[in-house]
Amino acid sequence: MEPAGKNNGNSPQRYDAIIIGAGISGMFQLYRLRELGMSVKVFETGTNIGGTWYWNRYPGARFDSESYSYHYSFSEEVLDEWDWSEHFAAQPEILRYLNFVADKFDLRSDIQFRTRVKSANYDEQNNHWEVCTDQGETFRSHLLISATGPLSAAQMPSIPGIDDFQGASFHTSQWPHEPVDFTNKRVGIIGTGATGVQVIQTIASQVGSLTVFQRDPNYCAPLHNRKIDKAEMKEIRAKYPEYFARCDETFGSFLHGSDPRMSLEVSEEERLAFFEELYAMPGFAIWLGNFADTFTDQKANDLLTEFMKQKIRERINDPVVAEKLIPTDHGFGLRRVPMETNYYEAYNQDNVDLIDVNEVTITRITQTGISTSEGDHEFDIIIYATGFNAVVGALERIEITGVGGQSLKEKWADGPRTYLGVQTNGFPNFFTIVGPHNAATFCNIPRCIEQNVEWLTGAIKYMRDNRCERMEASVDAEDAWTKHVFDAAQETLFPTVDSWFMNVNRNLPEKKKTFLLYTGGGPYYREKCEAVAANGYEGFALE
Ligand SMILES: Cc1cc2nc3c(=O)[nH]c(=O)nc-3n(C[C@H](O)[C@H](O)[C@H](O)COP(=O)(O)OP(=O)(O)OC[C@H]3O[C@@H](n4cnc5c(N)ncnc54)[C@H](O)[C@@H]3O)c2cc1C
Repeated sequence: MEPAGKNNGNSPQRYDAIIIGAGISGMFQLYRLRELGMSVKVFETGTNIGGTWYWNRYPGARFDSESYSYHYSFSEEVLDEWDWSEHFAAQPEILRYLNFVADKFDLRSDIQFRTRVKSANYDEQNNHWEVCTDQGETFRSHLLISATGPLSAAQMPSIPGIDDFQGASFHTSQWPHEPVDFTNKRVGIIGTGATGVQVIQTIASQVGSLTVFQRDPNYCAPLHNRKIDKAEMKEIRAKYPEYFARCDETFGSFLHGSDPRMSLEVSEEERLAFFEELYAMPGFAIWLGNFADTFTDQKANDLLTEFMKQKIRERINDPVVAEKLIPTDHGFGLRRVPMETNYYEAYNQDNVDLIDVNEVTITRITQTGISTSEGDHEFDIIIYATGFNAVVGALERIEITGVGGQSLKEKWADGPRTYLGVQTNGFPNFFTIVGPHNAATFCNIPRCIEQNVEWLTGAIKYMRDNRCERMEASVDAEDAWTKHVFDAAQETLFPTVDSWFMNVNRNLPEKKKTFLLYTGGGPYYREKCEAVAANGYEGFALE
């Protein structure tokens, strides 16, 4: 390990470990490495902690995980002291919670804010990482841990003239810290993914007019959020152990796990009754609590998709608008399902218009609004709800070079290759939390973050106890895991659909199609990681 001394004259400051990102992953990894007595530095682009919940301040931003299934489980004190006010908390409350955790453990003292890591180069001779920031500083560390987030690299659309607009415009994940007044404003919004849905349903009643530019409709499902009063919070708190145990056993580490029955083995009456029951339940029940074959058998998926189409038609007054809101290129749940509260009803309001950009092309952003093939639309505010360069985007924005000067971008040009989604050969002592091919990518994410961090902390402790200086995934282990990731995906219908799961982003046409997530399920992933550790970190070269 590096000496814990922080500065040697003019030479770069040295740490045992550098962590990139101060979201849920970076905060918890910092906490655990401090417990090992290591010197740790965290770099964070934002001005404070929170990651996703620091950046995404747009109106309507909230959980689609139950609040009490999402929060950290590692500290009894935090569990005892924090109360949630809603089953699916909104962004301000989530950010307050994360600040409460950061205050409690004095995490900020090891985090350097307003600092973006630009590059990280592995120095083979000295077995350390050299990390350069946009502040012109250089740091060295023995270990480098990326906690850069699966949905943190904001992606703007490639429309000409974006800088010409004279009104206010925002990407949803770079929302201002001050409230935006929508009263009587003419608002245009581009994008109808999970974020767009939350914004649209929230501001439709506040704006003068809202014009929604939609390219890819999504199947959305009702969230059924509710307040939590003191008495209910007491009952929920008593069930924390049960909830965490439940998350450990379900495929996606949510409270909702699939029903053991197959869609086609029950009668139509029974099937529809079950769909209705799930549709009336909160959260991801309809997505992740459905029949076991919903995402592996096309016929099964078609049945649920038909049910969801009918629900949309029932909720929209104008049948032409309803058909525009129904996806035609994928079945229900084959993309991440946006959760909604009166989203579809927003389109029944006179002040809300829907423009399908497959029929009407956006030609450019102008000084006063958006020009289309069918005319100009004037706006006071334009909102870009165009999402992220998902899973790999934040890593791609850092110049990372490993053994022999090979860059991570070059190595992953045809898609990531990883072992367990935590390492890639040629980049010793570099680890990814919620990396591609990690179960955390298809997960109630903090449950998997905690698993990732605990496992990695165990590996680091093992290195220290066994006097190992270098840990690197072997090529064989990486090949086998990457093949397993693709094989697991092929057993599902997910690769049949273009989505960020498949590294498809129509604003980044150069991206290669490849499956980025891990769909073998949380329980198998955890078992595999535990077995690897029990066998002396099998598949990793430790020197
Ligand atoms: C709007 C929204 C809602 C979501 N809701 C849910 C939900 O209900 N349930 C769920 O399971 N998941 C949800 N997610 C996914 C969410 O990203 C994860 O739950 C979780 O917050 C990820 O935490 P993280 O710490 O890994 O990454 P993040 O929270 O994304 O934090 C990464 C941090 O790294 C920083 N960073 C990145 N690159 C650099 C660099 N080069 N230098 C310095 N800093 C850098 C970023 O600024 C960011 O602050 C949601 C995501 C979004 C966008």
